[in-house]
Amino acid sequence: MIRFDNTYVRLPAVLHAPVTPTPVRAPRLIRLNHELATELGLDADEWASSAGAAVLGGNRLPPGAEPLAMAYAGHQFGQFVPSLGDGRAVLLGELVDVAGQRRDLHLKGAGRTPFSRGGDGRAALGPVVREYVLGEAMAGLGIPTTRALAMVATGEAVYRDRPEPGAVLARVAAGHVRVGTFQYVANLGDLDAVRALADYVIDRHYPDCAAAGQRYRALFEAVAQAQAALIARWMLVGFIHGVMNTDNMAISGETIDYGPCAFMDRYHPATKFSSIDHGGRYAYDRQPGIGYWNLAQLANCLLPLLADDEADGEAARQWALGALDRYGEAVDAAYVDGLCAKIGLQRPRAGDRELALDLLARMAEQGADFTNTFRLLSDLSAEASERDAPLRALFDQPAVLDDWVGRWRRRLAQEERPDAARQAAMRLVNPAFIPRNHLVQRVIEAATGETMDLGPLDALLRVVARPYDEDAGSAEYRRPPRPEEEVQRTFC
Ligand code: AMP
Ligand code: MG
Ligand code: MG
Repeated sequence: MIRFDNTYVRLPAVLHAPVTPTPVRAPRLIRLNHELATELGLDADEWASSAGAAVLGGNRLPPGAEPLAMAYAGHQFGQFVPSLGDGRAVLLGELVDVAGQRRDLHLKGAGRTPFSRGGDGRAALGPVVREYVLGEAMAGLGIPTTRALAMVATGEAVYRDRPEPGAVLARVAAGHVRVGTFQYVANLGDLDAVRALADYVIDRHYPDCAAAGQRYRALFEAVAQAQAALIARWMLVGFIHGVMNTDNMAISGETIDYGPCAFMDRYHPATKFSSIDHGGRYAYDRQPGIGYWNLAQLANCLLPLLADDEADGEAARQWALGALDRYGEAVDAAYVDGLCAKIGLQRPRAGDRELALDLLARMAEQGADFTNTFRLLSDLSAEASERDAPLRALFDQPAVLDDWVGRWRRRLAQEERPDAARQAAMRLVNPAFIPRNHLVQRVIEAATGETMDLGPLDALLRVVARPYDEDAGSAEYRRPPRPEEEVQRTFC
């Protein structure tokens, strides 16, 4: 049925606690991700059976599973919490996918663990649906992410503000080690465990570092560069993670923990959605800086390993500051390069950065839709024409755009790329479809309603699976929310 090949359980015991999922009353598989199942080498038909639901809901332990809860710490909104850990998730085990890549199979909402503190160990269907959709959308956009393999309704109620249908999300990740995992053992002063964990993630995620002279420096550099690439990708599609606590930053460089996250509609750099992010710590434009802050926490954990010899702490610290600077440069460069690609510039020239940023400033001033501005810009020709009209309509005062477009066209003239080729390239980086907040909200309301209607979910999943393809969905999926449809706040 499934061939587990578990490695995490062999790490020092301080890093994990054995725990078996708590059975649920009536597990019912409500969605199975067939594409992902195939990638994992699983027989989708077999998993779609009631036996599959029993495993994915946590009622039956498949042979070879060595379930555990991972220990981790974390800075939550800047406050260090020495023990968080999987409070409602169980790592069933690892499997090697058809491409030879090791993946974690994780059940979220599988019951209480030694890390549950006051929590019930469960997940409500609404947030599970959100995580399913957002993960698939992210994968469709080509951005590294954890993904849902399945959703199982539990037949039990969970109590949040009111009773809600419960669910288990079967989640697949390249790995679940977080910055907070390092913080957990570093805070205990367990340097052997820090080293074992570092060696583990080198072996699993960054094998090239093993050959480096200073393998732990190479590891930190690789993790920082992966985060730079990831966060820049988020910025370029208008994604706001919402809870970039250090326990929600994966060492693998995947997007993890879809809580109060959202894609923005109207562009504004200070946009935030999370109902608990009062100060805007995790607002859209803060994300690169928070990446730096989180990586600085990781560097602190690794410091003893970053020194040439253990006595030379200051040299290690200086080196880490340099690596953090390189992160800052990398995230900025990836962001600006990505913006230039979004406006169709292929051959960098002085002034490109300013040109791209000036468009964003005008979009912010005008409240222009982020996704649609770039997508419709992709339709423009080198010469002004009636094709400019839909883009102009996104701006309250089109003259604000016209001025910019004029300069953009003069810059395009230096590119020597035919319109059609440039437009095609722009459409590959400017999605037509994102999982707009109001659409996600509607999907969740339908799925959690009386009749558990999954029609809207399936329809949205089909669209976000091919976000760069205009034919993937109707204009309704591209339409920004009307004022009364707008979702301002998201909840975890
Ligand atoms: P998050 O905000 O999703 O990153 O979760 C922060 C911490 O709270 C993690 O340690 C979670 O395992 C834990 N947690 C969240 N929800 C629950 C719950 N319902 N029961 C137990 N632990 C939870
Ligand atoms: Mg989390
Ligand atoms: Mg969460």
